Amino acid sequence: MSNSNIRVRFAPSPTGPLHIGGVRTALYNYLFARKNGGKFILRIEDTDQTRLVSGAEKYIIDSFKWCGIEFDEGVASGGDYGPYRQSDRKHIYPAYAEELVKSGHAYYAFDTPDELNKIRTDYELQKLTFVYNAVARKKLRNSLTLTEEETNKLLESGEPYVIRFCMPENKIVVMNDMIRGKVEVNTSALDDKVLFKSDGMPTYHLANIVDDHLMEISHVIRGEEWLPSLPLHVLLYEAFNWEKPEFAHLPLLLKPDGNGKLSKRDGDRLGFPVFPLEWKDPKTGNISTGFREEGYFADAFINLLAMLGWNPGDERELFSMEELTEAFSIERVGKSGAKFDPVKAAWFNHQYLIRVDNETLAGLLMPIAIKNGVLVEKEQLSIAVGMVKERVNFVSELWDHLDFFFKQPENYDHKSVKKCWKEGSYNQMAELKDVLLEVDDFTAENTEKAVKKWIENNEYKTGAVMNAFRLLLVGELKGPHLFDIVALIGQEASVERIEQGLHEIGRIEN
Ligand code: GLU
Repeated sequence: MSNSNIRVRFAPSPTGPLHIGGVRTALYNYLFARKNGGKFILRIEDTDQTRLVSGAEKYIIDSFKWCGIEFDEGVASGGDYGPYRQSDRKHIYPAYAEELVKSGHAYYAFDTPDELNKIRTDYELQKLTFVYNAVARKKLRNSLTLTEEETNKLLESGEPYVIRFCMPENKIVVMNDMIRGKVEVNTSALDDKVLFKSDGMPTYHLANIVDDHLMEISHVIRGEEWLPSLPLHVLLYEAFNWEKPEFAHLPLLLKPDGNGKLSKRDGDRLGFPVFPLEWKDPKTGNISTGFREEGYFADAFINLLAMLGWNPGDERELFSMEELTEAFSIERVGKSGAKFDPVKAAWFNHQYLIRVDNETLAGLLMPIAIKNGVLVEKEQLSIAVGMVKERVNFVSELWDHLDFFFKQPENYDHKSVKKCWKEGSYNQMAELKDVLLEVDDFTAENTEKAVKKWIENNEYKTGAVMNAFRLLLVGELKGPHLFDIVALIGQEASVERIEQGLHEIGRIEN
């Protein structure tokens, strides 16, 4: 079903690198918009100027570019509902805050930070927690306790003030969440949140609601950590007399072990990234690695994130972005947190890697070969890649699995020598050299035939000969089918390796 009235947004605060939980939130919004023929918007929520981190907005945009999540409107793409950065919309918010004061849903509060701190400390001394709520506000310095005249005087004199929401007393707020269903909260448990700060900026709550309204957001899909803010947001919509969007609060991403939210510390501790791209902290210079830098394919990254909290209702696990768009629905997003499993994450990358054609993988591997001082034809590298790619999760792991194709053994694994270099080995390998030299068309098949015939004629033990041969070619007892190795290395080089091995190992053993 296509519905062009559907408008969703991802609204990050640029306070640092984007956590993968944020990428997943954006992904679900994107899929929801695509599935329903709606629009997806990127809005930057930077009203808390004290928490801004330089480079964070660019990082967010670069991350989405890398993983293929596209916005229809937003800071980088423009659109009819801009500006899309809240600091550029600064002039819009004061009138809305004033409107709430006029309608009795908000009030001016003149308490200074020092005064509030003192009250807080007094409460703590009595083992109580101070909350600026319906009870407390009656005893504090605000436009509800002061006369109109006193209030106006303070406002005119330029006295700093904030505007707070006047939380109704003992009222049940009934909310609907697309994932959790009906949620109810009594307002007595809530405080009078600041909507507008003394620095002339709105807080997150006010700016978020005003912008969602002005940008005609139809569905707010965001992380579970925002669920506690929902009653206030619902009450704000009601106070403005605006139609509410639908809400969906996504389950948290959890640590691989134990409970709790997945954090950067878990990543550092267990050796996996929690950010899409590498991030250099502008203050400390510390570098945190990213999924891209760890060798994840963007498609695999999207696929694994999609499965953290959503499932298609059947056994399928591999989805391209198009397939996700087709299959996605909010109804199939779970309520409970999704554990991030680094082993499963690598498995996803493996699934993508084995589907990438050998030539493309060889192209990605080429710089690693060059770094290792090996010059190799791309065609040769492609063949080698095809033989070993099933064994790895990341391109960076390929080299260790196939370097022996392109360089002679530098030494011979001691254990392997002990295991397979027997009394007759030296002579057998010396004979094998001639057998190989007699093969005309040096394919895997022809070579195998010739070698097997020679073994048979001489009644040698196949296993023993093969192991010794592998040892001389590879340097240890690893690698794919022996004759595939022989064919790729070629006649001349295979013979050379035998000669080198005879020289090196022969001398050790005899
Ligand atoms: N700026 C909020 C954040 O950083 C947005 C929350 C929301 O989507 O309402 O996550």
